[in-house]
Formats: sequence, structure tokens, C-alpha cells
Amino acid sequence: MAEVKLAVLGGGGAGKSALAVRFLTRRFIGEYASNAECIYTKHLCLDGRQIHLEIYDPCSQRGKLLLTDELHWADGFIIVYDISDRASFAFAKALLYRIRESHVGACKKMVESAVFLVGNKQDLCHMREVGWDEGQKLAVDNKCQFCELSAAEHYQEVAAMFMKVLRNVISN
Ligand code: GDP
Repeated sequence: MAEVKLAVLGGGGAGKSALAVRFLTRRFIGEYASNAECIYTKHLCLDGRQIHLEIYDPCSQRGKLLLTDELHWADGFIIVYDISDRASFAFAKALLYRIRESHVGACKKMVESAVFLVGNKQDLCHMREVGWDEGQKLAVDNKCQFCELSAAEHYQEVAAMFMKVLRNVISN
């Protein structure tokens, strides 16, 4: 059985827990007690392969960007920002930089295929502070994938995004 470890990272309140819980349970949980660091596990079948998936959701309140242990623990990263919160976009940018910096050389391929930048809360586009084109440009600059979605409203897109990261990790 393949084992895959994904870290869902981003600023506090960007929707990391909402995304992970949505993918794992199909449900959107409005208020989630996200001040505790946790690892969710799930068994799933992808293209006929059994996968043991671990999803790391760090403590939102923590001020630090990313610990070296987290960088080396994960096989793939989902970097989340809130399209209605510019500060969360700046945080996502700093995370991408940190990941890229720490994976130069041997793991370069991993950075280019197993990192997904997600602009969450697309349902709040009337309060948008970060343009779609800005997210897209940040992804192109960091050679990672990009999408905007809503953990609240788009279960199919959330699931498709997780599956895409999983496929990329497995094929690496
Ligand atoms: P985290 O700190 O990054 O884990 O963020 P949470 O998952 O706890 O979400 C923070 C807040 O944003 C909660 O009140 C969620 O209900 C809300 N939230 C998360 N995703 C969405 C979304 O797609 N749309 C809207 N409108 N709210 C969301």
C-alpha cells in the first residue's frame, strides 16, 4: 500500500481545516476548533491503488512559518490563502518561497508537481482582495499548480484538487 503525506498549510483562518475536513467527510464544518495541530488519516483507492493518506493540519495560531521537520515530513503541500484576505496571500507567498528554498536540487521535481496553491473562499468573491490573476502568477512563478475554490460550496473541486496532488505525488 502506498503511503502519502500531505501538509495543508497557510495563514490562520484561510480554511485549512475546512478544506481537509471537506475532503475527508464531504461536509463543510462552519466553525471548526482549529487551534489544535492534527494529522488526519484516510484509506482510499486511487486508479486501482490502495493509499494510506495522512493529512497534516498545523495549529493555525502558530506564528512560525514552517518547521524544517514539516518540510521533510510531507510528500506534497497544499498552500491555502483566503481570496478575501490579502495578508493570507502574503503568508502563502512566504510559504512557497520557504518550500522552494528547502527543496533545491534533489527534490526540485517534487516542488514543481506536488505543490498546489489554493485560493479558498471563492464564494466570498464580492469581498475579494486578491485577484485570480495574482494567484495564477504566484503559481507560475513558483512552478506549482493553482486553483480557486470554496471549501464551503465546492466539494467536487476540493476532492479533485486533493486527487490531483495525490496523483502527482504517487507518480513522482
Ligand atoms: P484554518 O485556520 O486555516 O484551519 O481555517 P478554518 O478551516 O478554521 O476556517 C476559518 C473560517 O473560515 C471558519 O469560520 C470557516 O467556516 C470559514 N471558511 C472556511 N472555508 C470557507 C469557504 O470556502 N467559504 C467561506 N465563506 N468561509 C469559509
